Amino acid sequence: MSATVTADAVLSHNPADPADLVIEAPVPGAFGTAAAIERARAAQPGWFAAGAAGRAAALGRAADAVEAHAEELAALAVREVGKPLVEARGEVARTVAILRYYAQAPYAPSGAVHETATGPGLLLTRRRPYGVAGLITPWNFPFAIPVWKAAPALAVGNTVVLKPAPEATGCALRLAELLALPAEVLTVVPGGAEEGAALVSAADVVSFTGSTATGQAVIRTATERSVPVQAELGGLNAAIVLPDADPEQAAAHLAFAIAGYAGQKCTATSRVIAVGAALEPLRAALVKALAAVERGPVISRAARDRVAGAVASAVDGGAELLTGGGLPQGAGWFVEPTLLAGVPAGHPLLTEEFFGPVAVLLGAADLDEAIELANATRHNLAASVHTRDLDTALAAADRLDAGMIRINAPSSGVDFHLPFGGAKAASYGDREQGQAALDFYTASRTVSLLPAGSA
Ligand code: NAD
Repeated sequence: MSATVTADAVLSHNPADPADLVIEAPVPGAFGTAAAIERARAAQPGWFAAGAAGRAAALGRAADAVEAHAEELAALAVREVGKPLVEARGEVARTVAILRYYAQAPYAPSGAVHETATGPGLLLTRRRPYGVAGLITPWNFPFAIPVWKAAPALAVGNTVVLKPAPEATGCALRLAELLALPAEVLTVVPGGAEEGAALVSAADVVSFTGSTATGQAVIRTATERSVPVQAELGGLNAAIVLPDADPEQAAAHLAFAIAGYAGQKCTATSRVIAVGAALEPLRAALVKALAAVERGPVISRAARDRVAGAVASAVDGGAELLTGGGLPQGAGWFVEPTLLAGVPAGHPLLTEEFFGPVAVLLGAADLDEAIELANATRHNLAASVHTRDLDTALAAADRLDAGMIRINAPSSGVDFHLPFGGAKAASYGDREQGQAALDFYTASRTVSLLPAGSA
């Protein structure tokens, strides 16, 4: 494992060099987590009372601090979660942009004015924070995901308790230091399932990103408590390539979506569907493009073994290995970018997320069959379509049952100012990011303001 959680501490290791201990941090357990939530709850009225000016200034200063330490943070993500440096720099830059975007939010309108039914007076809606936002995050975007949850929650006046993935503990603690918010306004609780469950049992609003199984348990607990919950879960994402697409360009996008950051993005492509005559040229171009992707490790030995086991069982079942499949020797948990064809129907590579640099190539007779294949899962988070034909692009965008549909782009891109989330079992609750996040972290109140003495 790249991280272990004991009764006392989290130990997080470098997945490219597991002998390198990145951080050992004490864990508070369930009681300590509950106490952190109580302190955050006591701090919330003061944070809300800081007003738009106070909250906007604090988020702006936080953005400046992250930007000033961008290289340090990128290097830490490389070391702790195995992210290639170029992608780590991109994530830190995005984190700064998210903080700047939400630094404007405290000044945005928080409601609307309506006419009364009977004459004088005003009807108002106002949005108000819930109290303490409990945030549970995965390791794969160790800065961007905590910030795209925390910044909107803070902007509208909640305080935050963040439980990062054990594998990203060092990143979360350093991020919180740099954000330098007032005491108890943002608290990081290192730990694992015990601390996560304690957070879901006591927070006033819950936002979770992680695996489907854990997320479903979080949703159950939060809904039993009647607190708002959103969950962003695993994806099994498809890319459709039409015969009119340039195979080299489509292959470059697909290779990045399949094997960038070793396939460890919820929006990674794991099923490539080539329509008709697209299949042969795409196969050759994709094998070449996958060889050019910058290699990084997967997060842990268990992750490497799970991916390698799935590839081996597909090959045993008659699949053809078009490229990859090897496990480079050396200290870290590396898997070669891998492409398979002829994977038997019902094989787990076609039905489950493996979170590694592996994809399956499928053929479809026409767009109808391609869309049917793409939609044939409960985990449609993102999809991509590669074509020069606008009618085809529009038809695919209408009929793909996925949360994000990207035309002529990798499935793995995110625009943080737009709603983010998946279809069916890939997501639960309100969308993240953009205005949707500001709505999620607030409740609407209706105020009837009538003249004194009205009947
Ligand atoms: P994970 O589910 O193992 O862990 C996620 C978080 O939940 C961690 O902080 C973990 O400590 C915590 N946790 C574990 N047990 C818990 C419990 N019982 N109660 C509350 N919290 C608990 O996921 P991971 O391995 O860290 O991340 C990879 C997964 O995240 C993949 O499935 C990936 O698709 C998904 N992901 C989804 C999105 C998205 O936006 N849809 C984005 C990134 C990652």
